[in-house]
Amino acid sequence: MFRSVLVLGSIRGIRVQIHVSWLIIFALVLLVLSASFHHQHPDWSTPTVMITAAITVLVFFASIVAHEFGHSLVAIRRGIPVRSITLFLFGGLAQLSRDSESADDEFWIAIAGPLVSFALAALFYLTSQLTAGVSEPVAAATAWLALINFVVAVFNMVPGFPLDGGRVFRAVIWKLTGDAERGMRAAVLGGRTVAYLLFGLGLWTMLTHGNVFGGIWIMLIAWFLLANAEAGQQGFDMQRRMSGVRARELADRQVPTVAAGTSITDWVEQSVLQHGLRSALVCRGQEVLGLVSLTDIRACPRDEWALTPVDRHMTRRESLHTVSPETPAPELLQAVTEHNLNQVPVLDEGRPVGWIDRERLLRMVKMHMELGRG
Ligand SMILES: [Zn+2]
Repeated sequence: MFRSVLVLGSIRGIRVQIHVSWLIIFALVLLVLSASFHHQHPDWSTPTVMITAAITVLVFFASIVAHEFGHSLVAIRRGIPVRSITLFLFGGLAQLSRDSESADDEFWIAIAGPLVSFALAALFYLTSQLTAGVSEPVAAATAWLALINFVVAVFNMVPGFPLDGGRVFRAVIWKLTGDAERGMRAAVLGGRTVAYLLFGLGLWTMLTHGNVFGGIWIMLIAWFLLANAEAGQQGFDMQRRMSGVRARELADRQVPTVAAGTSITDWVEQSVLQHGLRSALVCRGQEVLGLVSLTDIRACPRDEWALTPVDRHMTRRESLHTVSPETPAPELLQAVTEHNLNQVPVLDEGRPVGWIDRERLLRMVKMHMELGRG
């Protein structure tokens, strides 16, 4: 199966990974940087140019990872677990397990990344000054790294969501007014403004400088920011509206079950084909043993279906994601997206009391959002 991310390893429980789209930006920066080194230092040999450029690009991406670690370590210290750090086309992304619950948390988590970038810029600048007469490649590489980290820090401090500066802005408004929603609206408005300005800049770069590639690149970043600003607002609204809703209100009380020992053939003929069910809880009496789905039984050759009980191919109870009737809706939604679940059984003290599948969940959330709008 094709995987779009490459996991590099894990540092302090945080998975560090690279998305395939990152290879594009890696190649581009490498190309631009080697051309620039070659141009500025015509006396350098080709291997010197290539090796210096390659190491510089790798250190640049390590700097981005360090920036994301800045966010992550502050988040962890404030009790918010961090799942992963991903390098992708537009830079780095630290995947926090949940949003900040206070303006202070939001402020410090957001500002930590740019602070790391500023510190790195200072460090590289100092190194380039110290190595100026000693090693030309080291001085040139660190001078570029100082500049690029400075640019990363400054660009990220622009006050528009989803940029770090937008989050800082949001936290400040939130703190001043005590209203998280007002903070979010202001930051998203900032994000939209930044995105439209970048669109304009991209067009201007293309039309007046004839730099088609640069213009398209700026417009792509603008589009990325705009899409994420809107998604951030929607996610925020949904979180707010759904925070009072519990799993039991979203669940279907009809729980599809199949008795342990039933053959796959019987289950398929009586439930799957007749009622269009794609999965069911495998039960012995009231006890849940696991969950069987169409995906599970595909592992079993068809001519063995009649003689194979469903329990042999089910996902066992221990590895099953379940919720209690009182689980808040945002937590449920998060589990569904995080683990890509197609169905979640609702269990009350081990007994099946409800059933939520992905389609039903989306439908119910949409309904709650519409009802909450008035
Ligand atoms: Zn950041």
